[in-house]
Amino acid sequence: MSIRYFIPDWDDRVDPGYDFRTDQHTPDRDPYRDDHYAHQIYSTPPYDGILLSRAVIDNAGKKFSALVDLGSVHTYLRFPKPHKILGDCGAFSYWEADIPPYTTRDMVDFYDRLDFDYGVSVDHLIFAHDDAERRRRQELTLSNAAEFLKEHNGECQFEPIGVAQGWNPESYRESIKKLIQMEYGYLALGGLVRSTTAQIIAILQEIKSELRSNTQLHLFGVNRPEHIETFANLRVTSFDSASRLRRAWMDGRRNYFLGNTAFSAIRVPDAHRLARQQETIDEAEAQRLERMALSALQAYGADKDATNLEEVLTVVLAYAELAGEVTERTRHDYRETLARRPWNYCDCSICKAVNVEVLIFRGNNRNRRRGFHNTWQLYRQLHGHTQEIPPPLNGAAAPEQHALGL
Ligand SMILES: [Zn+2]
Repeated sequence: MSIRYFIPDWDDRVDPGYDFRTDQHTPDRDPYRDDHYAHQIYSTPPYDGILLSRAVIDNAGKKFSALVDLGSVHTYLRFPKPHKILGDCGAFSYWEADIPPYTTRDMVDFYDRLDFDYGVSVDHLIFAHDDAERRRRQELTLSNAAEFLKEHNGECQFEPIGVAQGWNPESYRESIKKLIQMEYGYLALGGLVRSTTAQIIAILQEIKSELRSNTQLHLFGVNRPEHIETFANLRVTSFDSASRLRRAWMDGRRNYFLGNTAFSAIRVPDAHRLARQQETIDEAEAQRLERMALSALQAYGADKDATNLEEVLTVVLAYAELAGEVTERTRHDYRETLARRPWNYCDCSICKAVNVEVLIFRGNNRNRRRGFHNTWQLYRQLHGHTQEIPPPLNGAAAPEQHALGL
């Protein structure tokens, strides 16, 4: 399947020299200068490109001036050409405003000056229920797209992408039709992050007869990458998704993906922080249990033939109980993770290097590495690789399956 995958940039970086045994960062490290993106950790990037939103840069303090000083998003993200960087406005950040905070002239300059490969026209999301307001936002997005092409004038080095907004399949079709008439070769569908898969499919079916044979189509903000093959069959040629990356630390239990199977990461929070958050917790006792949990997990991870699963689970759960309520489901999920040892089955360089640490839910360096691993797994799946893992032991119920349908 040849669909291109873009990862949205939110400063996802890790300390390459982080010491997992002592939980110490590299001495004298500067987080921007010294930390690594996923594409610096893996020998080839686990995505085809990066999506960088203007609003994200503007809201990140010194980031904008740092970027302007460097003069290139490729340099800033350490993602050299021919890797692709796609820019957009980040319309979610201003959807409540009357009009977008950026002008077309602004954005054309921004993309051109900073060396973007693709730039998306200035759009406005349509979450209104009032028909006149919907129309106003749709027309504003379309007139911006027309002006964007005029300002680009075939002279800028980036490829222009015309974005369609709508509120139902028919309105998206109208927008797409007009963008095609403007002679855009690359289109994007925005505003669908909160839509269901069925709604997205309905829109793609509605618009497909308007597309030319060589039209490229980007789908913004895919929350369920398991449906990507369906979208690709409906003419989508690129998408962006942070879903698998963020599930590593934002999902309640599906944190580590191995092929189609999701595992829970095992929570071992920082005891000092925990004691500060909950006055009833005795810090010395918390630190004792925290150390025991980490040591037990590290020893278990290091020994492929370890037979003390129940012992490790008891130690881990003793600390988990101190930190918060432990449910039957947590016990089941943690036992599953320990019994099946998914970190031993992944070929990615993070799992090879840090072993069981990638399954421990604790701080940026473990959690984000797990997110990078998820991204790497998804990218492999998009390229047709399947990942096998032996079935659960003792007939235990398998964790939730996430078929990618590939
Ligand atoms: Zn991995």
